[in-house]
Amino acid sequence: MEEEYKSKKDAHVLILPFPGLLGHMNPMLQLARRLVSKGIKATLVTTIFLSKSVTLSDPTGSICLETISDGFDQGGFAQAGSDEIYLSTFTSVGSQSLANLIKKLGETGQPLVAIIYDAFLPWALDVAKQFGLLTAVFFTQSCAVNSIYYHMSKGLLKLPIEEPNVSLPGLPVLKVSELPSLLYHYGSFPALFDMVVAQFSNIDEADWVLVNSFHHLEKEVIDWMSGIWKLGAIGPTIPSMFLDKRLENNKDYGIGLFKPDTRTCMNWLNSKPNGSVVYVSFGSLAVLGAEQMAEIAWGLKASNCYFLWVVRESEEPKLPENFKEEIREKCLIVGWCNQLEVLEHASLGCFFTHCGHNSVIEAMCLGVPMLGMPQVHDQATNAKYVEDVWGIGIRALADEKGIVGREIIKECINEVMEGEKGKEIKKNAIKWKNLAREAVDQGGSSDQKIDDFVAQLLCA
Ligand code: UDP
Repeated sequence: MEEEYKSKKDAHVLILPFPGLLGHMNPMLQLARRLVSKGIKATLVTTIFLSKSVTLSDPTGSICLETISDGFDQGGFAQAGSDEIYLSTFTSVGSQSLANLIKKLGETGQPLVAIIYDAFLPWALDVAKQFGLLTAVFFTQSCAVNSIYYHMSKGLLKLPIEEPNVSLPGLPVLKVSELPSLLYHYGSFPALFDMVVAQFSNIDEADWVLVNSFHHLEKEVIDWMSGIWKLGAIGPTIPSMFLDKRLENNKDYGIGLFKPDTRTCMNWLNSKPNGSVVYVSFGSLAVLGAEQMAEIAWGLKASNCYFLWVVRESEEPKLPENFKEEIREKCLIVGWCNQLEVLEHASLGCFFTHCGHNSVIEAMCLGVPMLGMPQVHDQATNAKYVEDVWGIGIRALADEKGIVGREIIKECINEVMEGEKGKEIKKNAIKWKNLAREAVDQGGSSDQKIDDFVAQLLCA
């Protein structure tokens, strides 16, 4: 098959993020944009089902969109009904469908030189190899988290974990509660566990391992990983207009799954003093219990700060009764917003976040101090880094029932907004904002890695 496929003229790359996960699709779209800016042709792949609802904002018009089937063209993940069924069907149907797409692109005069695939879709590497393509696996999580998962997958971190602390190369000592939740809830989510382990099943065959991080941010673990794979720390992959004021014309983030209420948010933020607003969001997936929602609500009220709270439609019924009326003066609740525009606004003083990797990276790039309240997956590890390694926020800790109480929330917000620790955090936030920008500026560490990668694409 490899021979048939040769006739590569343009450096055309296929980019395959895990469908439906915003925190995967958007960073990979931003990588596509960076590659396009360096003369590479990029095609982004989504599923047939998602292509009916996903809006791809591509002001340059240079990124093509193609589809493959995940086996659930009518209803996507909801049609599958479980992680197990979705992932196994996607592996078999997706492999065939991806091979058909690669063939089709070859036949229509747009042959590929490489595939950049989401680490959650390792079967894409096997398909790419059949066509002799260069392969790059893209990890959307931090290098620290990838290293933890790597050690777990190789049996170097024995589960269930019996020690109170874990020590791994290039990482600070981590308490068990600071590890990704799959490790301390060992056995609870078998399909997700298998997916995380499978990320490393064929990674040694990948030509590149790309990560949404930058050298200064995770120096020790990046250096350690570079000893194993050809590593490209190419982040932060946030849209360049949020990193460079000169590119201010277009503020579209990229892929939309929910509709942002941008005008309402901006009008409200514009009416607030600089540094006075707490932005509250727990990302696109987190599901909080009604008790926790009530504690957040009353904690926010007690802080006496202004706050903009993203409560997705499915979470809205959990807000305490009469809460909206009680806090009308101080608060705006929206179903979704353009997070980057909000984080960039001068009125922001603190981001109360679940510490999803993208949210942390975005807040860092825009210099916004954080209050972390991690929920699941990698968020506890990210929150640990935010507080103890980078010093750009603090964590609100849960009680023995797993609830973060209103008093703690109030105290933590006040600490970040006006406490002594808050002053230090603000200084560090500016430092990291500058370092993040330096990494992606021309000649910065991430920019150089992208150039190395592009050089290889051009001679593939
Ligand atoms: N986001 C957004 N509007 C919102 C909330 C979140 O645009 O109201 C975006 C945010 O900018 C980030 C992504 O959704 O890029 C969330 O990714 P993250 O990794 O932080 O969390 P996840 O949703 O994967 O838990």
